[in-house]
Amino acid sequence: MKQSMTFIPTLREVPADAEVKSHQLMLRAGFTRQNTSGVYSYLPLAHKVLKKIEQIVREEMNNAGASELLMPALQQAELWQESGRWYSYGPELMRLKDRHKREFALGATHEEMITSLVRDEIKSYKRLPLSLYQIQTKFRDEKRPRFGVLRGREFLMKDAYSFHATHESLDEVYVKMFTAYQNIFSRCGLDFRAVIADSGAMGGTDTHEFMVLSDIGEDTIAYSDTSQYAANIEMAPVIATYEKSTEEQKELVKIETPDQKTIEEISTFLNVSKESCIKSVLFKVDDKFVLVLVRGDHEVNDIKVKNLFGASVVELATAEETIKALKCVPGFIGPINVSEDVEVVADHAISSVVNGVCGANEEQFHFQGVNIERDAKITQLADLRFIQEGDISPDGEGTIKFAKGIEVGHVFKLGTRYSESMNATFLDENGRTQPMIMGCYGIGVSRTLAAIIEQHNDENGIVWPESVAPFQIHVIPVNVKNDSQKDLAEKLYTEFTQSGYEVLIDDRAERVGVKFADSDLIGLPLRVTVGKKAEEGIVEVKIRKTGESFEVSVDELHEKVKQILGN
Ligand code: ATP
Ligand code: MG
Repeated sequence: MKQSMTFIPTLREVPADAEVKSHQLMLRAGFTRQNTSGVYSYLPLAHKVLKKIEQIVREEMNNAGASELLMPALQQAELWQESGRWYSYGPELMRLKDRHKREFALGATHEEMITSLVRDEIKSYKRLPLSLYQIQTKFRDEKRPRFGVLRGREFLMKDAYSFHATHESLDEVYVKMFTAYQNIFSRCGLDFRAVIADSGAMGGTDTHEFMVLSDIGEDTIAYSDTSQYAANIEMAPVIATYEKSTEEQKELVKIETPDQKTIEEISTFLNVSKESCIKSVLFKVDDKFVLVLVRGDHEVNDIKVKNLFGASVVELATAEETIKALKCVPGFIGPINVSEDVEVVADHAISSVVNGVCGANEEQFHFQGVNIERDAKITQLADLRFIQEGDISPDGEGTIKFAKGIEVGHVFKLGTRYSESMNATFLDENGRTQPMIMGCYGIGVSRTLAAIIEQHNDENGIVWPESVAPFQIHVIPVNVKNDSQKDLAEKLYTEFTQSGYEVLIDDRAERVGVKFADSDLIGLPLRVTVGKKAEEGIVEVKIRKTGESFEVSVDELHEKVKQILGN
């Protein structure tokens, strides 16, 4: 492609509103432009990369036995009403009306659409399993669109769905999809981890998120420093055991602690360790108040609270609710002398606290000498805290470290969540009607594009992995007004193209400094500069990734390029 004829609007300045590297570089290197919040145009270079990622996705999906289709983005409200998500999805679902005032949604995901499609056509176990996928624009009115295309309101997703007669069949396909995802993200040159994720209200245990390791990631991953174990921090069980001190139990005493509300404050004020403080956090679990106790140096994991009660909503109680439930303002609440309406549960670590400190349910007062079994009524002891760095890994191997990750993909065993609500059934071998068992598998294609840039850049610009680079070779005639330079550059451009490479030639009448800066910014794997030595048949080759450069005679050039690019 000739640079003079395409559209690569590069910028010298770092755009002020772009916080993260990938967003800055996509703007600066002329890959994207924002139209409105969370809505972007993908310019020719980005479009080329998207097509490459899509190609990798297609190859791996087809290989996993899935067939591609394309479903509507415009979806009638009735479908979403059938599954119940018309009411539960909330404002993230973009809704609109047609001229007849009928309601529609713009597809945020396609479980409803595909379930209705398959249920109308497939009636027998003989036609199962079936895996289908599409690559399509999705719409989600995100609360906080940010980081460029990493969190857009309109974005490109690959979504796959599988339908099964048995759980074993779903398990098999899940493994295939999992492997396909590993291949896809490896081929995209990404450093990632497949982490155990929260299956939320869907039930079931098998769901993994594919996380690209990056400091700007919104999710925290807990991983073992020695084994393959990795989980979303919310999901990692704590297997630590706690030693109870042999200290003699003291008497319970109420003490005045004016304005000492946080664990930090109270431990300093009383000169005790955080480990001997009991943190009491009041939640509303569905419609019930639950007081959760964790050790002062730990944090409550609300997902674990939610799972313990099989609840659908777990929220921190507000100040008003706290006063109502415990007759005390937040900051001084605790598990002793609470009414029957409030259930008290505690993390395992609490049972090892001897002579601890907790709020007294009286403003400006705490208890000291607390021994929980003696002084409070705990209904359940469970794993209720977040795992921490330094904890034993849940698989028993190594210790836990934290990393940040960007979720690029998600594989999920849906079970019968949609088939039951939408009546997608089949006849099994015994002629009995059964709901289809389903899986779903998403990849953020446009997010993957940004994630690749996030991991592959240097101070001068993007450094594309070859597998997804928009072009492999950047040919740069230093001076297009010089005929021998121009002719040689064009000759090389044609030859490389004929050899099957994708080539970009900077045929613009720009200063060479500008061309080089743009070239680094765009970040193609190999640059071939045709300058003063063109007449002698010598050009310069530069490898973007290593910065290594050398002169080569035109005779040896093709062989050299073949060695470097390897095809
Ligand atoms: P997130 O937690 O980041 O909001 P999600 O759990 O809502 O993601 P899924 O519903 O599992 O995401 O969608 C499948 C994939 O689509 C995600 O793994 C992610 O890569 C991508 N994705 C989701 N939301 C966005 C978005 N707003 N912009 C770009 N990609 C997205
Ligand atoms: Mg989301």
